[in-house]
Amino acid sequence: MKFLQTHSWLKSLCFLCALCASVVNCFSLDREAFSFTTYDLNVQVEPQQHRLGVRGKVTLRNDSQTPQKIAVLQISSSLDWRAISLSGKAGDKAVQFITRTYTSDIDHTGALSEAIVTFPQPVAPHGTIELEIAYEGVILLDATRLTRIGTPEEVAHSTDWDQIDTEFTGLRGAGYVAWYPIATEVANLSEGNSLFEVLGRWKNREAGSKMRVQIALQSDNSTPPTILFNGVHCQMTMNESMGAISRLQWECTYQSLRLDAPTLVMAAYGVQEKPGIEVSYLNGHDAAATNFADAAEKAAPLIAEWFGPLREKAWTADLPDPKAAPFESGSLLLTPLASTDSKLAGLAAAHQLTHAAFLSFRPWIEEGLAHFAQALYLEQQKNRQAALDYMGLHRSAFSEAEKTTTAPRSEDAANHSLINTTSEELYRSKAMCVWWMLRDMVGDAALKKALAAYRLKQDNDASYMPRLIAAQTQRDLEWFFDDWVYRDHGLPDFKVEAAFSRKTLTNAFLLTITVDNLGAAGAEVPIRVRFAGGDVTKRLEVRAKDKAVIRVETPAVPQEIVINDGSVPESDLTNNIFKIEPVEK
Ligand SMILES: [Zn+2]
Repeated sequence: MKFLQTHSWLKSLCFLCALCASVVNCFSLDREAFSFTTYDLNVQVEPQQHRLGVRGKVTLRNDSQTPQKIAVLQISSSLDWRAISLSGKAGDKAVQFITRTYTSDIDHTGALSEAIVTFPQPVAPHGTIELEIAYEGVILLDATRLTRIGTPEEVAHSTDWDQIDTEFTGLRGAGYVAWYPIATEVANLSEGNSLFEVLGRWKNREAGSKMRVQIALQSDNSTPPTILFNGVHCQMTMNESMGAISRLQWECTYQSLRLDAPTLVMAAYGVQEKPGIEVSYLNGHDAAATNFADAAEKAAPLIAEWFGPLREKAWTADLPDPKAAPFESGSLLLTPLASTDSKLAGLAAAHQLTHAAFLSFRPWIEEGLAHFAQALYLEQQKNRQAALDYMGLHRSAFSEAEKTTTAPRSEDAANHSLINTTSEELYRSKAMCVWWMLRDMVGDAALKKALAAYRLKQDNDASYMPRLIAAQTQRDLEWFFDDWVYRDHGLPDFKVEAAFSRKTLTNAFLLTITVDNLGAAGAEVPIRVRFAGGDVTKRLEVRAKDKAVIRVETPAVPQEIVINDGSVPESDLTNNIFKIEPVEK
């Protein structure tokens, strides 16, 4: 391999690094000063050797406020830097760099190979610099970052399933395996949300960056593998056979518009094609693939009704380990196609099709809506209760996250808000509940109209989506967005403070209910009154730390009041049932 030419030179330099490393430590390195705006990489894959060799160009932009003379480039610790030089107008000049291992859980190996590059001249703020780079190494199944914090090996390998192998190659990029250079501060899985915060910052800085990848492969197989690069079809540009071996090459280009990280998948897939979705499956999984494609086709009209026509095709690709954790990147879903359960397939497809139809770079909109679509799908397939039960499963996830902020500091209220959070529990599960509550408050037609009016290019501030929704209703929703979207005010906690009933002239009963909200977030909550032979449900808006009164008429003696059918996340559900005292004469 050509990279080896620089090897001995690098070796002596590395010897030097050992001495320099301590010098570099004296400076505080700003690892996140530079963003990568373009990647142009030639990737040679050798599946039999689990090996990857990369040469290419990257453009770095100084996103900090001060001139920067040092940049940090990080790749997985199982890869080694071979060469780094200046390119473009600066000429093909080698630059000084030292390499070392940097412990960080952003990579599956739990560490990164870091190149600390010193430029001849500082790069001004907003200035860019182009580098020629080369690195290589192996990418094997490795879950060190998980096993060292006590995750059982089997579970760890089903989570961190990235590897280069003959049957299946899956490289999920930043957050899993740094097969292309990144620049991040340390992420630590044993420190709460640290990994998600580092990854969130990285994705934010990389939004809009462009990656062109040329993939080259030698194969002794007559059927070339399928290459998936995010949701992009890669074009085969070479298929030359030389005896028993063929040389294959593909061109893939991807520009990120949402917060995702480039992901590369390579396997001998069969394909099930439907108008809105392509399902790539491994040998023997035909039945599960058909089931998935059919379920997606059935879910498609509901998704189109809510989120508009598909902007792009959805892609689903099979994972060989039946226990592998599914992974999504935009409208690409990687999941084991092992089951023929059509409900599970429909649920996954509803989520994925929503991504193919609706694009936002704001996670609470992008992911919140895709989960909301799953609840809508269950409601359509079964009933409202099925949707509420599904949301209930999600609720337990973020209720825990909310409990840690019982006495929210004001910076937490801002940091944990749906518009700023990097916590998946919040921008996925809590956001889903917020979308459901909005739908209950403004109605299907109004919410669909608001979603249809959304334009990615016009989404320049966090209040854009709330304003679109507010425009479709007469109701004041500012308090709701304040409690649930712009700030994290925790959850409401409703209880019946008092209830009195009296008989009306028409022999009905008029029940007056006072509901107290002990929580710091307001909501509109369903109130169900049970009477002999039936029940009646009304909705009541109760603001944070406030009370509200509602009158409910029942045809028979009211017996019991139940606040909240489960559609409003609440911190305490034990005080939601109220037995009514016998009626006065
Ligand atoms: Zn999603």
